[in-house]
Amino acid sequence: LGWFDHVKPAPKDPIIGVTEAFLADPSPNKINLGVGAYRDDEGKPVVLQCVRDAESKITGSEFLESISAGVSSRFVEESVELIYGKNSDVMKERRFAGLQALSGTGACRLFAEFQRHFHHDVPIFLPDPTWSNHHNIWRDAQVPVRTYRYYHHDSKGLNFGAFMDDIKNAPEGSFFLLHPCAHNPTGIDPTDEQWREISNQFMVNHHFPFFDMAYQGFASGDLEKDAKAIRIFLEDGHIIGCAQSFAKNMGLYGHRVGCLSVLAKDQKQAMIVRSQLQRLARAMYSSPPIHGVLLVSTILSDPLLKAEWIEELKVMADRIRSMRASLFDHLEKLNSPHNWDHIVKQVGMFCYSGLNYEQIDQLARDFHIYMTRDGRISMAGVTTRNVSYLAEAMHQVSS
Ligand code: PLP
Repeated sequence: LGWFDHVKPAPKDPIIGVTEAFLADPSPNKINLGVGAYRDDEGKPVVLQCVRDAESKITGSEFLESISAGVSSRFVEESVELIYGKNSDVMKERRFAGLQALSGTGACRLFAEFQRHFHHDVPIFLPDPTWSNHHNIWRDAQVPVRTYRYYHHDSKGLNFGAFMDDIKNAPEGSFFLLHPCAHNPTGIDPTDEQWREISNQFMVNHHFPFFDMAYQGFASGDLEKDAKAIRIFLEDGHIIGCAQSFAKNMGLYGHRVGCLSVLAKDQKQAMIVRSQLQRLARAMYSSPPIHGVLLVSTILSDPLLKAEWIEELKVMADRIRSMRASLFDHLEKLNSPHNWDHIVKQVGMFCYSGLNYEQIDQLARDFHIYMTRDGRISMAGVTTRNVSYLAEAMHQVSS
């Protein structure tokens, strides 16, 4: 009786809205540039061969039991090694508190809960723009959310000066969320030199860097290179946090495999922090599903499977890069009056096209091409077959 009369529909997720419009369109030429998951050159989702191989290795008995401490700690160890580096002091001194999390989203949410419990009322600064769910995650965890300037509309590049100013002007000891590579949605990353300056300024202002690593390997095709920002902060001795996702780089979106790690000043403190993260996770969902974690830990701990993964990751990153080049070339050949350099300068899964609302609506209406209203193109949706049609359409709506 009337219990839920006051409940109003939640606002639609912008990405789900794009997918719905795409699915409802009967045109054979339609293109979905909304989804953030990798697609092959046929536009199909991919199951990596290393995942298939790992799957055949783990078929059997372990599945129905909850995850064993051994599997879990091996998974965490192998995951954090990818970001902090095998020979880093952090690993040697065991100064990390790591926990398996429900993919990147779950890792962010768990960290937000941790923040609220132990640094109540300290704000987190998110880049403007950022993945829209960051706002939901920290807001729902009741952490005060602020933004810092990141994107420069005119140059379609990084607004580095404003970014630095916002770091300097934030209250001393704030949390900052940083995308270590392949920034979503802009595809714009600071250079190594800029990361060094950012890290220095963080030391001056005693800010806490929280890295959301959702695309390791997708920016450069190389896991180590894509971890460079984190390594720079490590060299400077920061205590940091990091959310990792295997959704994109292993194509395991549906399995929700991720890792949250938080550094501490020594191993003893790391164990204390871990016990609190574990407690928070237990109250929310007890423990995460086991299948995906077994897949990832099997791949990461088997040198042959890991090598296979690294190869396949490079193939995915290279395909995306070649589609950027191809889209750019087609626009040049059409004598587009605009400068499209940013298409090839930006990195990772997304291209922040600079197209405006009207142009985006026209692309959907007249060309059956769908993307989010911020003009973000998922390069994974671009293929050898549709790239010239896309370029022609972009040219027509922007000329
Ligand atoms: N963080 C960023 C920046 C993302 O772009 C995404 C996914 O789009 C996520 C986190 C969440 O990924 P997951 O599917 O692993 O939860």
